[in-house]
Amino acid sequence: MFKIIFIGSGCWQGIPAPFGEDTISRNVEWGSKDFRFRTSLYIETEKGEKILVEVTPDIRLQSWKFKLEKPDSILISHWHWDHLFGLLDLDWFAEKNAMTVYGNKVTKKWYTQRMEHIGIDFHIFDSYESFEIDNVKITPITVSHVEETHGFLFEDKPSGKKFVYLSDLYALPPETVEYISGVDAITVDATYIEADVNDDETHLKKDQIKPFLESLNAREIILTNIGSYHGLTHDELERRFPQCTISYDGMERKFSLS
Ligand SMILES: [Zn+2]
Repeated sequence: MFKIIFIGSGCWQGIPAPFGEDTISRNVEWGSKDFRFRTSLYIETEKGEKILVEVTPDIRLQSWKFKLEKPDSILISHWHWDHLFGLLDLDWFAEKNAMTVYGNKVTKKWYTQRMEHIGIDFHIFDSYESFEIDNVKITPITVSHVEETHGFLFEDKPSGKKFVYLSDLYALPPETVEYISGVDAITVDATYIEADVNDDETHLKKDQIKPFLESLNAREIILTNIGSYHGLTHDELERRFPQCTISYDGMERKFSLS
């Protein structure tokens, strides 16, 4: 069994965006489903292991809002600051708590160059090479975004239930498509969903999202990494994408035998 809490569901800027002039950023209220920390997950296993997926610059408030306990492990998908640079806020915390971080070799390079003073135990992972935490088998999978970007396939070993966390992406390589076919739930990058932003080649664009969703074979498709560029509320997104779950901060999912 493992349980996931979405402790952030927003894109790289979060919602509200800094000095944001879009209607969502201007009108959003603290605690509403349109308020989104940067996308990240908090996972609890059967024996109580705590896994943080991504360390965003919002980690201080996320840990307070969701009453999080110290994570035993941290998984980082790639080296972009909105996934990694929350570590800078954990300097004092890291001195008192042994922290194990799993990331790829480019993320390790960024960590070493910019924040090695934070004492963590950094494990470098490779694509498709699984490791286990408690009863959860974790497989880093390659996604197309920037140099060395990964998502994670989580499998509850007793039940065989599978959850895939896809980080920022504009496409998936064929090997990854094979790995993630038929899973129970999968997240999808909705940074530019319904938004006319065409100068960023690293995320799915508006006209690419629907074909991408249709190409996935999963019981539940969860949109996350949600931006505010579209000017649509959470409820409006739910109406436009009835085939998907629109994630929100605090949403939970459990993967177990029952
Ligand atoms: Zn990124």
